[in-house]
Amino acid sequence: MSIGQIIGWSVLALLALFVLISLIRAIFFKPKKREIPAYPDEQVDEARAAANLSAAVQIPTISYPEQDKVDWAQFERFHAFLEKAYPLVHATCTREIVPPASLLYHWKGKNSDLPPMALLAHIDVVPIEDGTEQDWTHPPFSGHNDGEFIWGRGTVDMKNHLICIFEAAETLLAEGYTPERDIYICLGDDEEVVAGGNSGANKIREALIARGVTKLASTLDEGGAVLPIPKVLGVLPESTLAGVGVSEKGFADIEIAVTSKGGHSSAPPNHTAVGELAKVVRDLERNQFNSKLLPHMVDIIDQASRRMPIYLRVIMVNHKLMKPLFLAVMKRIPQAACMIRTCTAVTMAQGSPASNVLPQRASIVVNFRMMPGTSTEDVVRHIRKVVRNKNIEIKVLRNIEASPFSSTDNPAYAALHDLILHSAPNAMIVPYLVMGGTDTVFYEPICDNCYRFSPFFMPLDLLMRTHATDECLALSTLGDGVRFFKRYIKMAADKS
Ligand SMILES: [Zn+2]
Repeated sequence: MSIGQIIGWSVLALLALFVLISLIRAIFFKPKKREIPAYPDEQVDEARAAANLSAAVQIPTISYPEQDKVDWAQFERFHAFLEKAYPLVHATCTREIVPPASLLYHWKGKNSDLPPMALLAHIDVVPIEDGTEQDWTHPPFSGHNDGEFIWGRGTVDMKNHLICIFEAAETLLAEGYTPERDIYICLGDDEEVVAGGNSGANKIREALIARGVTKLASTLDEGGAVLPIPKVLGVLPESTLAGVGVSEKGFADIEIAVTSKGGHSSAPPNHTAVGELAKVVRDLERNQFNSKLLPHMVDIIDQASRRMPIYLRVIMVNHKLMKPLFLAVMKRIPQAACMIRTCTAVTMAQGSPASNVLPQRASIVVNFRMMPGTSTEDVVRHIRKVVRNKNIEIKVLRNIEASPFSSTDNPAYAALHDLILHSAPNAMIVPYLVMGGTDTVFYEPICDNCYRFSPFFMPLDLLMRTHATDECLALSTLGDGVRFFKRYIKMAADKS
């Protein structure tokens, strides 16, 4: 045999061995065995929860970026509604109004030496887009209960979550429960309008610090939910995905400007300031940030692969070797690309004020969404590096840094994990990176264990109605939400 033949046969033999090993591994590459926790049943007043959610939706607590546009009287109505609906909570906890309309409740535990935990929610909702009021099946602030759904703005984002916290606390108090550690319930008034350092949540954190609370054991806010994943023919069986947000992307609005001489448009140079700016846009869009599969993405791929039929598991058992392939495919799909890299979106542009005037200054605003580990400073450095025009002016208009990843090794996360498993035994449970923003970022300076999860079963078509027409919540999931919070409070507050 020639050397070439020997090499050829060796390669073939190695390949056959690789396939054989993959086949054997694929047979055992199945969803990991998990012990489904059992809990004693919890008393829940489902009718009261539904009536209170309906009443909460009927108070239009709409937030706007312009504070003078906000009808603060509605927020006061909401405060009064909570007081009336939850007398035990209000008799037991101290309540502080953090101006203008955020609320901070303090539920004292048996052992105030333990670091307290916090339950977060926001009171405000987004407005109804002009001209779409008539498109609603039931008026957006009716809180209509048709026996199957409760309809209206805030039923999903997030008066459902807020009401379930209060229902759980009220019922626990009626049962004579006192938590081991102190619990804070923090309700922001402006989550829907990203208000940066001036936000309600930021002021609540400052109020906590003023009370001497410099370390929280955990926080739980909106974020992930329990989503049914439809059957993907021949690839994936019907399954359920429960994401617990453990980090969120940052954002930075950055203005980039080019100046030039200006003058009359009848004698223009080859490139006006806008023309120069076009090259800047091209440089930015051609030089995207590096992509990376974060551990939670690898985890999702792993859990999904284990549910595939054997002929695909033979391939997917080696998914870790296929990272470059996944990255190449995901980069081409915008909805997937945002999960693997810092995103660049050129969203606004401005030139001269008239068509016959050459611009003396032209500018764009670029909205960057940063991955954890990439700071605003890194983004500015990236702009300087990839834009060939070195005379650009860069100005950071507003920004919130990406958050660090919270640990999944503590009682609060364990409680979330076990409670999800209890309600959805076959769910893929994944700690994940939240794409949008929540109030949680404002608590990160005083908490290492920040989670974003709402305990509601959310079919995709209902989830898509968040911030849109016909937002509604299935009544069947509301009682489970209260049950979840009752158990979560006990588990996260009493275990250290
Ligand atoms: Zn929300």
